Amino acid sequence: MFRSLHMKLVMILVLLITSLMTVVGAFLMTSVTSFYIDSFYEQMNDAFSDAAFYSALKTEAAQEDGAQRLQSLMELYAGTLGIDSRSRNYYILNADTGAFLTGSDEAGGAVLEQTANILTARNGSVGSESDIAANYMDVAVPVSGGDNHFIIYIRDDRATVSELNGELLLIILQAMLVGLLVSVLLSFLLAKTMIDPIEKLTEGAERIAGGDFNEVLEVDSNDEIGILTTTFNDMASVLHDTLDAVENERSKLDALFLHMTDGVVAYDADQQLMHCNPAAVALLDRAPEACVYAEIFEPIRPFAQVLGMRRGDYAEAELTVGERSVELYFAAFADEETGGVLVVLHDITEHRRTEERRKEFVANVSHEMRTPLTNIRSYAETIRDANGDIDRETENSFLDIVISETDRMTHIVQDLLTLSRLDSGRTEMVMARFPFADAIDAVLRSIALEAQRHGHELTGDYSERLPMIMGDRGRIEQVMLNILSNAVKYTPDGGHIRVSAGDADGKVWMEVADDGIGIPEKDRSRIFERFYRVDKARSRESGGTGLGLSIAAEIVQRHNGSLSIVDRPGPGTTVRLELPIRQATGQEALS
Ligand code: ADP
Repeated sequence: MFRSLHMKLVMILVLLITSLMTVVGAFLMTSVTSFYIDSFYEQMNDAFSDAAFYSALKTEAAQEDGAQRLQSLMELYAGTLGIDSRSRNYYILNADTGAFLTGSDEAGGAVLEQTANILTARNGSVGSESDIAANYMDVAVPVSGGDNHFIIYIRDDRATVSELNGELLLIILQAMLVGLLVSVLLSFLLAKTMIDPIEKLTEGAERIAGGDFNEVLEVDSNDEIGILTTTFNDMASVLHDTLDAVENERSKLDALFLHMTDGVVAYDADQQLMHCNPAAVALLDRAPEACVYAEIFEPIRPFAQVLGMRRGDYAEAELTVGERSVELYFAAFADEETGGVLVVLHDITEHRRTEERRKEFVANVSHEMRTPLTNIRSYAETIRDANGDIDRETENSFLDIVISETDRMTHIVQDLLTLSRLDSGRTEMVMARFPFADAIDAVLRSIALEAQRHGHELTGDYSERLPMIMGDRGRIEQVMLNILSNAVKYTPDGGHIRVSAGDADGKVWMEVADDGIGIPEKDRSRIFERFYRVDKARSRESGGTGLGLSIAAEIVQRHNGSLSIVDRPGPGTTVRLELPIRQATGQEALS
C-alpha cells in the first residue's frame, strides 16, 4: 500500500509532528515547573514579609510551650501559606539541633533530613535557596522568642506539579496521536494531488523506456506537475518522431545493404565483425562469421593502417576468390565512441572477362587481317619486283589471289560490322509474320546449287503447314543459310544433308543434320564464339571467317530463340534452331 514516496511523506509528517510535540511538551512542562517553583517562593516571601505574621510567630515562640503555640498559629495561616498537609507541609524544628518538634506531617517530620536551607536557618538566616535538582522545594525561617529558638520549615514535594505535568504529558500524547492521524490523512491527500501524478509520470517514463509511445499522459492541473506532464508528453512525442526517423533511416540502410550488389563488411576498432551483407558473403564465398579481417584482408591491407586513414580517404586493392575477381575499397569510419574499418567489395569478374574477350577479339581481328594483308603484299611485291618479267597467266593468277584476299577482308569487315551493330543494338529487326516453311524453302533453293556442286544429297523433311512466326524474315533466312552452308562446307563431297522442321509448345524448330566431319565434343560449346573455328585452315580454305555462327546466335537471341548443336551419336553434325511463334513483348521490344 505504501509506495516509497508516500511512505517518505508519512515519515516526514510523523517526525515533524512528534518532534514538534516533544519540543512543545518539554517547553510547557519546564515552564509549568518553574512557574510553580517561582510562585512557591513568592508566596513564602509574601507570607513571611508580613510583619504581623512574623511578630506573631515571635510572640508565640517566646511562650513556654512555644512549639505548640507556633503550631496553632501555623494552622491559622495554613491557607496563606498554601499548606495542604499532602504535598506541602510545615515543620517546627529545634533551631539548635534541627530536630523535628511538631508539624502538619508527623511521619515526614520523623525522617526529615537536614537540607541546605535548614542548615542556613540553624545559623540564624532565612534559608530560601531553590535547588533545581531536588525533588522538593523548601524554606526554613528561624524564629526566636525569648530563649526559645525554632525554625519554621515549609516543604513542598512537588507532587502537585508532577501531577500537573503528568496530565500535561497525557494531553500532549493525545494531541500527538491526533496529529499523527491528521498527518496520515494529510499524506493521503498530498499523495492524491502530488505523488499520483509523479507516479503516473514515472510509469509513463518506464513505458517509453520500454518502447511504448502509444499512451499520452493526462494533464490534470495547471501547476508545476501539470507543466511537467505537458513537457513530458512533448518530449515523448519528439522522441517518438526522432526514433521513427532513425528507424526509418536504419531500415533504408538495411534494405540498401541487403539488396546492393556490392558487398559491404564493417569491423569495429577491435576487428570484431559488425556487419556483413549477403553480397559480401557471396563474393567472399564464406559464412558471415568466417569473414575474419585478419584472415582475408590483413595480408592485403593491415588493419591498423586502414584504421589510421583520414576520413574521406580510401585505399583500393584486388582480391581473387576462386574464379572471381573482386575489387576492394578500404576506408576508416568513426562513430562517436571508437570507429572502425569498412570494406566495400565490387565484383569485377565480368568486367575482367569482357576485357579479356575484348583483348582476345582485337588479337583475333588483327590476326585475321594480317594473313590476307601479308598475302596481298607479297603477291603485289612479286608482280612489282618481276618488273614485267612475268608471264600474263601467272600475273593474272597472282592478281586473282590479291582480289580474293581483298574479298576475304571485305567479308571479315562486313561480318564485324554486322556483329558490332548487333552488339550495340543499332540493327533494327524488321518484324513481320511469315510462314516458317516458306523461309526454309527459300533457303533450300538458294543453297541447292552449291550442294549439288559438292555432290551432296539435300533433303527436306517438313510439313508445308508449319505455323506463321513473328520475326525478321531476312535475318532468319541468313541464320538458316549460315547453318546450311556450314553443313555443305564441312561435309566431304557426296554427303547427305537433311533438313527437318516442326513445331511444339509455341515454338518452331529446324534441324540441319549432315554426315560430315562433325564437331569434337570439347569444341561444341565454343563454336558460337567469335573467330572460333575447329579447323582454322579448313575454314579459311572454304572462305569462312569464324564469325558466321556468332552472328547467327546474336540474331536468334534477339528473337528470343536458341541455336544449339544436338548431342547425337554417329558421324556428322546436327544444328538445331528454335524460335518462338509469337514475340512476347511485340515488335518494339526487338527493335
Ligand atoms: P566459319 O566461317 O569458319 O564457318 P562459323 O562461325 O560459321 O565460321 O562456324 C564456326 C566453326 O564451327 C567452323 O569453323 C567449324 O569448325 C565449325 N562448324 C560449323 N558448322 C559445322 C558443321 N556442320 N560441321 C562441322 N563443323 C562445323
